[in-house]
Amino acid sequence: MLQLALKVLKEINSHGYESYIVGGFVRDYILGIESNDIDIATNATPKEIKEIFDDSCLPTEDYGSVTVVKNGILFEITTFRREINYIDHRRPDKIEYVDSLYEDLLRRDFTINSLCMDENGKIIDLLGGRVDIDNRVIKTIGVATERFEEDCLRILRAVRFATILGFKLDDSVVAGIKKTKHLLRNLSYYRKKSELDRIFSCGNNMEGVRLLLELGLDEELELERLKDIKHIDSSISAWSILNVVDKYPFSSNEQELIKDINQALKLNNLDPMALYKYGLYVNSVAGDIKGLDKKEITSAYACLAIHSKKDLAIECSDITTALNKKPGKYLSEIYDDIIYNILYRKLANNKESIIKYVVDNYKE
Ligand code: ATP
Ligand code: MG
Repeated sequence: MLQLALKVLKEINSHGYESYIVGGFVRDYILGIESNDIDIATNATPKEIKEIFDDSCLPTEDYGSVTVVKNGILFEITTFRREINYIDHRRPDKIEYVDSLYEDLLRRDFTINSLCMDENGKIIDLLGGRVDIDNRVIKTIGVATERFEEDCLRILRAVRFATILGFKLDDSVVAGIKKTKHLLRNLSYYRKKSELDRIFSCGNNMEGVRLLLELGLDEELELERLKDIKHIDSSISAWSILNVVDKYPFSSNEQELIKDINQALKLNNLDPMALYKYGLYVNSVAGDIKGLDKKEITSAYACLAIHSKKDLAIECSDITTALNKKPGKYLSEIYDDIIYNILYRKLANNKESIIKYVVDNYKE
């Protein structure tokens, strides 16, 4: 991946421009963490970049940057820029192309995200990012309060990097967050959710929860139940506890899961009916929230007499024939009854026994 990235830089530079890998990739490279995407900063304009990588540019692009795909890897190539007049405490009103890397780095959020790499793989450290990585500390570029006022998403990015990387927040960052955290009320729920998803889904997620509480962000983010989280193994388990589907945006799949997990939380997750109705995944998440042993839930699930209606040893026509009746709504009641009795081992899952049970109990 690095070799391919250096090749991209060489390609840009061979046309007379300057370019560097910047941001997360360099930070993660120093920390020995794999990155998925690579950000490149250059003095070439988007139009010039498009001319160089004619065949591999994605059609959708942000103003001032071009996405190039090589071997399935995304390169986000952004022209050196200055950002002017932030509006709504979120985004700049205007950007202006500049010719110096240094000036481009000044607009970036944290020193650990300001390191660059040139086409020879040499690290360039103009703002002291290396020492902060070595000390495992998150510091803003410039005055923290001002940088959070310009763009309050940086507050959540700070917590996200501290959580995922296991870094500490510099005192100035903590103070800056405390002064500006009210601005998060205006940040879109979409942005808040995507940062929180990354915090909740990483291995160090409880540290993230602790940080959010310590900084008082639970209130600004309207996460009243954050303090109730004792343990989570995925972002969906966190969202199930937080129960904020009326505010935060969730996909229909996520909404369904959250609803089911909340139902399963009220049940005994080793109970055959709960396992049958909500399945292994939902019961495992609910069990995990309650601190139950995952292995026990898995083996209880494996031992179920049936896992779905398809596993029943009879078909609908067997029932209608046995009762000598046309199919109708009455069938669902009979099915529920059969399934209940099979799950609780009161009835064997074979055709003969089931038909006998149906005839004994439902034949008019
Ligand atoms: P990751 O890709 O793991 O989320 P990253 O640091 O690469 O981490 P990106 O969102 O890809 O984050 O942004 C790339 C770079 O752009 C960052 O490293 C940072 O230098 C800069 N950047 C991103 N978002 C902001 C922001 N809101 N304010 C200032 N600079 C930012
Ligand atoms: Mg990135």
